[in-house]
Amino acid sequence: MDPAATRSSQDTVKQFEKYVIPNYTRYPICLVRGEGQYVWDAEGKRYLDLFPGWGCNMLGHSPEPIVKAIQQQVEKLIHIPNTWYTEAQGDFAEMLCTRSFGKAFFCNSGAEANEGAIKLARLHGSPNGRYKIITFERGFHGRTLATVTATAQPKYHEGLGPLVAGFKYAPYGNLEAVADLIDHETAAIMLEPIQGEGGINIPPQGFLEGLRKLCDDNGCLLIFDEVQTCMGRTGTWFGYQQFGVQPDVLTMAKGVAGGVAAGVVIAKTELAPALRPGMHASTFGGNPLAMAAGIATMKMIEDQNLLANVEAMSARFRRHFESLQRELPIIQEVRTKGMMIGVELSIPSKPAVGKCMERGVLVNSTQDSVLRLLPALNITEAEVDEGCSVIAEVLREMASEA
Ligand SMILES: *Cc1c(COP(=O)(O)O)cnc(C)c1O
Repeated sequence: MDPAATRSSQDTVKQFEKYVIPNYTRYPICLVRGEGQYVWDAEGKRYLDLFPGWGCNMLGHSPEPIVKAIQQQVEKLIHIPNTWYTEAQGDFAEMLCTRSFGKAFFCNSGAEANEGAIKLARLHGSPNGRYKIITFERGFHGRTLATVTATAQPKYHEGLGPLVAGFKYAPYGNLEAVADLIDHETAAIMLEPIQGEGGINIPPQGFLEGLRKLCDDNGCLLIFDEVQTCMGRTGTWFGYQQFGVQPDVLTMAKGVAGGVAAGVVIAKTELAPALRPGMHASTFGGNPLAMAAGIATMKMIEDQNLLANVEAMSARFRRHFESLQRELPIIQEVRTKGMMIGVELSIPSKPAVGKCMERGVLVNSTQDSVLRLLPALNITEAEVDEGCSVIAEVLREMASEA
C-alpha cells in the first residue's frame, strides 16, 4: 500500500458505489498522491501521467511553487466575494490581460466561462436583435444547458431537450457553410481555435482569418473557447497567438490556475460593459485561492522558460510518433500543437488507454480513434522518451492484433 493511502482502491470503489452518483465511467483505481509527471495509486503503483488532470494540471502534480503560493494565500484569506476588491484578483487579471487583451471576468469552470461569453454576446447583440450563435461540429464547450447546446454532437443532447434556442452548427473548417448560416440575428461565432475533445483538430490554413473577416463584415463577435488551449498549452500564452487572429472574447479554464478550479472570460475593453452589474455573477469567481494559484502558474511558466520547453518537447513527441508512423500503418496521422498531441489510428484507440495504464502510463482516447495526450508544460526529455516507448510497445501490440 502507498504511504498516502488509508485503504485499498477497492474499498474506495465500494464507497463510491454506495454514495456517489455514477455519472462517470471510472477506472477501478484510487489515486492518492502525485509529484511532477507521476501519480501513485493506493496500492503504491506509479504512473507516468501524460494526461494530468484532463489538461488541468498544467505543470504536473503538486508543483512546489503553486503549492507554496496556495499555502501562503490560504493562511491570509480563502474566500472573499466580489462585493470587495482583492489584490490577488487584480494581479491575475493584469497578468492575463497584459499578455492578451481587454478585461477579465472570473468564474470557476470552462462551461461557466463559455456561459459567460454567450451571455456577453447576447447582451451585446440584443439592442440590434442579435442572439444567434454559430458553433462547429466536433467542438466541445461544456455541460451546462447553453454550452451543451453549443456543443454540436447529438450524443451530448439526448434526453435534455428542449435545448437553448438560437444555436446553429457548421462543419469545422468550412467558411462557406458559416457564411450561409450568418444573418442579421447572428450575435457571435464561437469555436476552439484548436479542437481538443474533437481529436486535436488544427484549423485549416486561412480558416480563423476567414472567420475573423466574416465577423467584422457582419457585425458579430468572434469568441474563442480556449479552455483547453490557454496558458501556454500550445507554446504561446494563448492559442489564438499561434494563428495571429485575435478574437473579441476569449474563455479559459482547465489549466489556467495550475489545477485549481478557475474559469476566465477575457473581453475586448469596449465590449466589457455588456456584462453590467446585475447581469452576470459567480459567487466563487476570482476567489483569492484560485487567483494565487493562477499567478503562481504564470510565474512558474515564465521563471522556468516553459514556453520554450513546450516547443522542444512537442517536437520530440512528434519525432517519436512520426517514426512510429513509418513502422505502423495503423497510425493515420500525427497532430501536434505544443502540448496538445493527437495520434489518429485506423482502429479504435480506447484499448490503448487500458494497455498503457497496465504498463504505468496514463493517456486518453477521444473521438473513438484518436489517442490524445495533454502533457504538462514542464515535462522532461526523459519523461517524453519513457512515455513514448510504452505507447510504442502498446501500439505495436495493437497493430499485431488488428
Ligand atoms: C473541458 C472543456 C470545456 C468544459 O470545461 P469544464 O471546466 O468541464 O466546464 C469547455 N471547452 C473546452 C474547449 C474544453 O476542453
